[in-house]
Amino acid sequence: MRQFTYERAATPAAAADAVAHHENAKFIAGGTNLLDLMKLEIETPAHLVDINHLGLDTIEATPEGGLRIGALVRNTDLAANRTVMEHYPVLSRALVAGASGQLRNKATTAGNLLQRTRCPYFYDTAQPCNKRVPGSGCSALGGFSRNLAIVGVSNACIAQHPSDMAVAMRLLDAVVEVASADGKTKHMPIANLHRLPGDTPHVENALQKGDMITSVILPKPLGGRHIYRKVRDRASYAFATVSVAAVIQQDGSGRFAFGGIAPKPWRVESAERAHASDPKRLTDAVLADARPTEQNRFKVALLERTIASVLTSRTL
Ligand SMILES: Cc1cc2nc3c(=O)[nH]c(=O)nc-3n(C[C@H](O)[C@H](O)[C@H](O)COP(=O)(O)OP(=O)(O)OC[C@H]3O[C@@H](n4cnc5c(N)ncnc54)[C@H](O)[C@@H]3O)c2cc1C
Ligand code: SF4
Repeated sequence: MRQFTYERAATPAAAADAVAHHENAKFIAGGTNLLDLMKLEIETPAHLVDINHLGLDTIEATPEGGLRIGALVRNTDLAANRTVMEHYPVLSRALVAGASGQLRNKATTAGNLLQRTRCPYFYDTAQPCNKRVPGSGCSALGGFSRNLAIVGVSNACIAQHPSDMAVAMRLLDAVVEVASADGKTKHMPIANLHRLPGDTPHVENALQKGDMITSVILPKPLGGRHIYRKVRDRASYAFATVSVAAVIQQDGSGRFAFGGIAPKPWRVESAERAHASDPKRLTDAVLADARPTEQNRFKVALLERTIASVLTSRTL
């Protein structure tokens, strides 16, 4: 691990300012992703700004009937929150499907949204990777790509987004609140937070230098049946091969968001409006622009079968 300096921020504004004005600085929250990347020298920040003591660890009702989740709320606490379990159970289920109990005790709401891909070549510094070293090439194209993305990909990168929680947040139309280095607060729909790779796969989100997520806001509850179905290689402690988050209403209408298939939490609202009860048509519409590799083509049929199982699920 390379040497770095460290400070504990006193306010969100001071944290944003510190990251904006230091050369190569990063926020550190739970550290469960960032520290791993630093040990492998994939991330080499010169300065760490610790945001763990800013009081951003509360969950509160909003005047609009929704929920404001502090950026530093631990995944365990969010999953076990009574309001989340009763009114946003898809979020609770997505959280407990992720990582392990120990990791969820440390992992934070914002850190989970901004965790980096699990593409094996991104972690192997001996291999070319456009995301790790821009312009170096993509080892996954023509390499081992079984678990990587099939839609939203580019010629530069086919990495998948690894977060389970982000899929549920996308389904619920969460909005991310951000403190900027200029002292302003901005709000960003989660649909706009993560970027597709295009020619610049190293630019993964729409945050500017110094932007710090302070909370995630959920709109008022949707009602309906909430389901999170995660298909993975092991029964636990594994990232999604394919995941489906759904809220199904009594009249048969539904919302769906998908994990494991794209570089960001994937949702196609026009497809769910047209085909909410037909797994084949919904899959075809959601994956209309899919570009699978030989190794991950199986995800198309797997997604269709997972949607079918969600539609027949009795989960309340
Ligand atoms: C073995 C293992 C298995 C796992 N399995 C799963 C799984 O199945 N599903 C899943 O979803 N996840 C899984 N994870 C990932 C885990 O959920 C993430 O590591 C964790 O959520 C990251 O949160 P953190 O608070 O530790 O982030 P950190 O490591 O502290 O930060 C991650 C990134 O976010 C940035 N950041 C943090 N907070 C803010 C903020 N407020 N504003 C702006 N930037 C910020 C940091 O600078 C850093 O770039 C696994 C991890 C491991 C190690
Ligand atoms: S898929 Fe993306 S992360 Fe993986 S090797 Fe290619 S460029 Fe790197």
